[in-house]
Amino acid sequence: MPAAESIETRHTFCRICEALCGLEVTLADGAIRQIRPDPEHVATRGFGCMKGLKQHKLFSSPDRLRHPGKRVDGELVRVSWEQANSEIGARLKDIRSRFSPDAIAMYVGTAAGFGVLHPIFAQGFMTGLGSKSMYASATQDCSNKFAVARQVYGFPFTQPFPDVDHTQCLIIVGANPVVSKWSFLQVSNPIERLREIQQRGGRVIVVDPRRTETAKVASEHVFIRPGTDVFFFLSFLQEMFAIGGVDRAKAADFMTGAEEVERLVGSWTPERTAEVTGIAPEKLREIVAAHRAARGAALYCSTGVNMGGHGSLAFWLMECINALSGNLDRRGGTLVGRGVMDFPRFGVKNGVLMRDDRSRVGGFSSVNDAFPGGILADEILTPGPRQVRALFVTGGNPLLTMANAGRLARAFESLELLVVLDILPTETASLAHYVLPCTAPIQRPDLPFIFPLMLGLQSKPYLQATRAIAPPDDEQRDEATIYLDLARAAGAPLFGSRVAQWALQAAKWLHSVRRRGRQPEIPQELLLSLLLRATGNGGFAKLLAEPHGRLRPDHRESDFLGQRVVTDDGRVHLAPPQLVDAAHKLDAAFDRERATAGRLRLITKRQVATHNSWTHNFEEFVAGDRGTNHLYMHPQDAARAPLADGELADVSSEIATVRVPVRTLFELMPGTVALPHGWGHQRATGLSVASRTRGVNVNLLAADGPDAIERISGMARLTGIPVDVRPASGPQATQSWSGLPEA
Ligand code: SF4
Repeated sequence: MPAAESIETRHTFCRICEALCGLEVTLADGAIRQIRPDPEHVATRGFGCMKGLKQHKLFSSPDRLRHPGKRVDGELVRVSWEQANSEIGARLKDIRSRFSPDAIAMYVGTAAGFGVLHPIFAQGFMTGLGSKSMYASATQDCSNKFAVARQVYGFPFTQPFPDVDHTQCLIIVGANPVVSKWSFLQVSNPIERLREIQQRGGRVIVVDPRRTETAKVASEHVFIRPGTDVFFFLSFLQEMFAIGGVDRAKAADFMTGAEEVERLVGSWTPERTAEVTGIAPEKLREIVAAHRAARGAALYCSTGVNMGGHGSLAFWLMECINALSGNLDRRGGTLVGRGVMDFPRFGVKNGVLMRDDRSRVGGFSSVNDAFPGGILADEILTPGPRQVRALFVTGGNPLLTMANAGRLARAFESLELLVVLDILPTETASLAHYVLPCTAPIQRPDLPFIFPLMLGLQSKPYLQATRAIAPPDDEQRDEATIYLDLARAAGAPLFGSRVAQWALQAAKWLHSVRRRGRQPEIPQELLLSLLLRATGNGGFAKLLAEPHGRLRPDHRESDFLGQRVVTDDGRVHLAPPQLVDAAHKLDAAFDRERATAGRLRLITKRQVATHNSWTHNFEEFVAGDRGTNHLYMHPQDAARAPLADGELADVSSEIATVRVPVRTLFELMPGTVALPHGWGHQRATGLSVASRTRGVNVNLLAADGPDAIERISGMARLTGIPVDVRPASGPQATQSWSGLPEA
């Protein structure tokens, strides 16, 4: 008789997006058979989506990187870890001695932020090398929030969030939590939570160029022309002051700059801005009145605002609305969470994420100790001191996610050394000299990633620990171990500390001896346990004993202002000089908007089955009709082109043209077209499924370089781009990831 199957249930949490859903995993003889949402999870309460529930299939792709690879004569050949580490280490020593430490750069992608140890060790590696050449994917989607928060609240990670559980009026601008989940806030089950607001008599108003999935469950949807949010917020503030909707007493007690903001917005009446936003003055006044009448109201924005060209100013003005209306630090308004430690005070005291470096190209200020991705190609291609000669790419795929990928590809091809740490052979990996195989999230132990842990950006604060659910395949290793070994090989101790390097190496050796024959690794659970103990939360094992998570104290109102603001004077700075100066120049931007009113504006659009650039390699997510992205057009715009459903269109920006099939969509504001991002994998031959998809990379249409990116935060403009759309004609103009026309 065959032996009975051994069935086991384990609990973990998803590390694909910020919802961090609690999951229940069934293992049969040690292999994952099924993943379900954990109904008993203290915060996520049985919520999950198809990506999280099928991640074991996604992560067990035959295309997964399983061995270190070195490019020889254009081909990636298998090498040992010892060879990869020693050769990379030798090349780093050589580059450091010939140039400067800053000649070695690192690009950190979003995936790095979903583990605790990965970003800490990646930064420790760069500190050991003595390089400040860090680039982060945040400058594609959220650096504006960090840059503004540092000026307004004193620390980039001080990010007030809407009190979703108690608000009576939630105004969501340029965000679609029903599909993308929330950002800078962990909330489970967005549809349920938005309905709860309405069930208790509150209002949810969505302001967006598309009637999004979120707009469909909101109380009301208002169209806005892409890229004009900053003018909407200016008029919102102007009207707020005009109707006496400012809590002047609270502003006087806890803030500076209210009068300056009032002067600044004085001329931006709803009548004036309606011309570019498309929002009628009466409608804007009605929204402001509803906001004022609510007992607890909040405005929230995300990528649609962040990436639209004025992300910093727009977010700053939105924060001014939340603060000046008296809703900051108020139940039902916006709250500032507490993490497991007072990270803002720690950061300010120790200079963590507070460096004031200047980029060589363009003189951009660093944000969170990183430079804008939009100048990375220039930093590689421009000769001179500190020119980037070597690049590490960790947890990201910049050739698909950054602006002007064609130019970036040419820059990468010119590097002396490109090392990619990833789970799959991406487009970026296809150019790398060395590719190092990493474990996937379910193959490693962890805590909820750094945002909730350090900052309490959770609507329901909790802690959770997970063990690795699946073992590594072959020679895959976690990034912390990889950076420890590379630091040793390069003769550049992690964190610049020989003691730390030695202690971690010794811990790795001991742990690996105990693991007998498996891939060597640092004791990840031990390090996570030390982190928990250092913050007074007991050890890792104790937290594991609470498999559905451990609730932490709820957020409270009146817990931030006058107590935890880390500016020099402890007040919220509503009118930082750099932001005020930039706002005074908005007249010119307004005139440009008016001058280009007749042109189509391109926005991005997230699809349920895909996640940024990396879930297209799973057949089920891209089967049949889902095997390409489409250009969505309002029927009126399509008729004018003229284009019909299914026909091919050439979409042209100032810098590129892509060819893509059209789909008409009534839910778009006329004058707006939408193209989902993350596509364009045709040259990633190692991705056997994704390379057969037909979509195009929308970011080819976006410009990079110092003149194209936003000055305050270094954000690239990836939405609200003026484009022309016409029926496809002439030779195939579809762009590959390299930006070169296909033959
Ligand atoms: S919403 Fe989906 S992808 Fe995001 S954490 Fe939950 S299961 Fe994972």
